[in-house]
Amino acid sequence: MLTDKPEQCQNNDYMNKLYDEHRDQFNTEGREPIRVALMSDLHLDYDYQEGMNSDCGKPLCCRSDSGLPATPDKAAGKWGDFMCDLNERTMINMLQYIKNEIKPDVVLWGGDSIPHNVDTLTFDSNVQIMRNVTAEVLTQLDDLRIYPTIGNHDTYPQDIIRMSIPKQNQAINQWIDTWDPMIPDPEQNKLFKDWGYYSQPFLNKDGKQLGDPFTKIISLNNNICYHFNWESMTTFEDPGGMLEWLEVQLNDLEKVNGTAIILSHVPNIDECNRQFGRRYHAILDRYQHVIRWGLYAHIHQEQFQVQTDLTFGNPIGINFIIGSATTFTGKPPSFNVVNLDPVSMLPISFETYAFDLDHANKFDEPKWDLMYNYTETYGMKDLSPQSFYDLSKSIYYDEEVAKAYRNHRYIDGPGVNKEAGCDFECRMIMYCQTVSNDYDEWQFCRNRDKFDPFSISETLLTFEQSVDHTWFTNK
Ligand SMILES: [Zn+2]
Ligand SMILES: [Zn+2]
Repeated sequence: MLTDKPEQCQNNDYMNKLYDEHRDQFNTEGREPIRVALMSDLHLDYDYQEGMNSDCGKPLCCRSDSGLPATPDKAAGKWGDFMCDLNERTMINMLQYIKNEIKPDVVLWGGDSIPHNVDTLTFDSNVQIMRNVTAEVLTQLDDLRIYPTIGNHDTYPQDIIRMSIPKQNQAINQWIDTWDPMIPDPEQNKLFKDWGYYSQPFLNKDGKQLGDPFTKIISLNNNICYHFNWESMTTFEDPGGMLEWLEVQLNDLEKVNGTAIILSHVPNIDECNRQFGRRYHAILDRYQHVIRWGLYAHIHQEQFQVQTDLTFGNPIGINFIIGSATTFTGKPPSFNVVNLDPVSMLPISFETYAFDLDHANKFDEPKWDLMYNYTETYGMKDLSPQSFYDLSKSIYYDEEVAKAYRNHRYIDGPGVNKEAGCDFECRMIMYCQTVSNDYDEWQFCRNRDKFDPFSISETLLTFEQSVDHTWFTNK
């Protein structure tokens, strides 16, 4: 895989050099940035009911079966509640805000639309919610091109996404046709319906190419590596042929000096099995000059991940792991905007917008605020891999930076104790989350590379990874 790494990638600084080459021309005349809205993890609850108990002792509250609250402060608000999933009113408001105020050229959608009522969800309700959410998104964002990817909650039972034969996931089969308008190319649409992945040219709704003429969105079904997806423990080699296909896609783009944007739900850090994760990491290393950035989701807290090369750990790329639209749990609804330079396709700025839930419930007035603009918030000279890597190191060494990053992960919501300190362990975990690119690296980074079956907090992962370990072959 890495033996034929191109000359310009040998020093693992291709992207950093590209920033040096183009930085001064960002935002200059004729280089109007491409505006990309990023949203994910809607986890929409159609059964959300204002006034119901938000602290009901069930997996999900604020619903018709949650009962009435013991005290008024436990009553579900009109616009949402930090203990519960997103309601329809706030979702529609977010989509309208994106369309009317953000006015993006295109939208990337990171998956997970099903609510967290795991005790009462059924096959039929899962399918119906997926169909309804899709219809609502397509209606509200009707003049925007949307590129979606499947999340681990978007099937039934959740997490179990099989890829040993085509069209294996019955729940997904039932709703997948509602995504047809977003994946219009017949060949890619078929691929998507068979396996859950596709690639498409980077176009706006009018079919106009955005930026570089050979840019593609590559949407992956990385749920196959998710450690709660038991299928990942029964399918040994590249399920659904996705990684082999990814290599072909990137190789084709390499031949025409094209670029790629990766879209996937599950990030390749601690929750992605090592056999898959290691190979995936190698592909991203090999094609570091083709891939401009990645969008991931699933964690619900907002994070970044420095892409590194497999051998030396140098910063070669950047992945945005965006926060959830749902409030579940303790975080205001949020979405992001990344502005791209149309010539180099490099991210210029990265913004976080959040819903002011307390204000909305108090005054019955929805309100969205620009919370962070990364270059300003963190004092970065640009969004290059090196600048993010430097930020990772500041998180490790500087408690004030670490606290800010920790609080920003929750957009200062009640899910985080904002005043608490961040000791060495706290800083190390966040540092390792931002620089590890697969399960092995995550373990090594925290000095936990030894097999440890008695680690209570990690028993499941340790067991899974030790099983996975026996399949692992170096290629
Ligand atoms: Zn989610
Ligand atoms: Zn998820």
